[in-house]
Amino acid sequence: MIKVAKFGGSSVASAEQFKKVKSIVEADPTRRFVVVSAAGKRFSGDNKITDLLLLVNAHIEYHVDCTQLLKDIEARFVEIANELGLSYPIAQKFEEFSACVKSLSPEYIVSRGEWFTGQLMAEYLGLPFVDAADVIVFHHDGTVDLERTATAVREEVQQKGSFVLPGFYGSTVEGTIRLFQRGGGDISGAILARCLDADVYENWTDVSGFLAADPRIVDNPRTIHRITFDEMRELSYMGASVLQEEAIFPVREVGIPIQIKNTNEPEATGTTIRETAHERSHEHLITGIAGKRDFTAIHIQKAHLHNDVSYIRRALSVFERNGVSVEHIPTGVDSFGIVVSSSEVGDAIYSIVNDLRNELKPDAISVVDKLALISVVGRNMSRRAGTSGRIFGALGEAGINIRMITQSSQEISIIMGVNNEDFERAIKAIYDKFVGQELVEMGNGGVQ
Ligand code: ASP
Repeated sequence: MIKVAKFGGSSVASAEQFKKVKSIVEADPTRRFVVVSAAGKRFSGDNKITDLLLLVNAHIEYHVDCTQLLKDIEARFVEIANELGLSYPIAQKFEEFSACVKSLSPEYIVSRGEWFTGQLMAEYLGLPFVDAADVIVFHHDGTVDLERTATAVREEVQQKGSFVLPGFYGSTVEGTIRLFQRGGGDISGAILARCLDADVYENWTDVSGFLAADPRIVDNPRTIHRITFDEMRELSYMGASVLQEEAIFPVREVGIPIQIKNTNEPEATGTTIRETAHERSHEHLITGIAGKRDFTAIHIQKAHLHNDVSYIRRALSVFERNGVSVEHIPTGVDSFGIVVSSSEVGDAIYSIVNDLRNELKPDAISVVDKLALISVVGRNMSRRAGTSGRIFGALGEAGINIRMITQSSQEISIIMGVNNEDFERAIKAIYDKFVGQELVEMGNGGVQ
């Protein structure tokens, strides 16, 4: 059994957090491979080391002195090392880095957040340190060379048995440091899990998994214990994000489940993400609800629209020309809508409507903005009749007008448009109807 345990920025933000990581790693001998992010925020309003290093780059670019900034970053690491009584010469190493910082590439500078955090964690856990630049190999187009990476990982495993790997970066074959996107430590962990053919990829963060709804809207929402990759994509897309989305692909392709766990509450079940989740008799109908405000819908009406095979394509090409991606296309017999993000479409809406008028000669065209989209996600919905009726019923009872409805093609989500101002009430109403009632019916607190 092999587990890759990746710890995010808040899990390694201070000496206190390092201690929690140690007890988690030591509690399970199969946690032999540890991936760390750079030390993150210790409290709200604090700085992430990665953000500070990005600021160092900006100072260098604009020829502004960054001595104090570097000292502040050093102090964060020194504090952790001192509190834990580590012997790694962090001050000396950091000063060597600071002394030549102006001659280093921006990627190299930013990657030092993970590098130093990894060095400290390796000593604290008593595990060897492996530099990600030696194992995570990037192609020149920025994608990862999985074959070369797997070979390098296997060599390190042979030599060292287990190790600590800093996340977020790697290098090209020439040795140039490359970074993943922000939050990319999750991707490093997923790649390592894949190369090791791990049994599970544990992602330790500061929440106990995916929640069935936004806790700023619903009080104390239920944790989703089991979710499929597809469901997670739907919820993440609508803003309910815990994991860097790109992190799912390396493990998903080879069937390795991801477990989201909370470093501050290690006993909590967390969320397990897998390809499929077999139905259990008492399983929830709805997995989660997520949504976003501020969409714009352009409604186009034209008699006998369905006879014109090119009509929708021509409409979409107007959006393509304007560089605006389309979120949804709810269709009727003689009409259809095109839903886009209001911030993305911006002022281009005027030229888009103009082009649509000229090219499509519609009978009517109208624009509705300030729309919120709510996605109700559940792999079990398609198998049980009456689900959408219950969702719409919940909104009807709450006096909320539904402006648009679509369903995802695999029937795992139903997406509704409501007015921005009804957004929170709508989520609460749906949550209460399903989850609230299930809890009462089950009488067991909803544990799966
Ligand atoms: N440290 C990087 C960031 O803040 C990567 C990560 O934390 O996963 O984005």
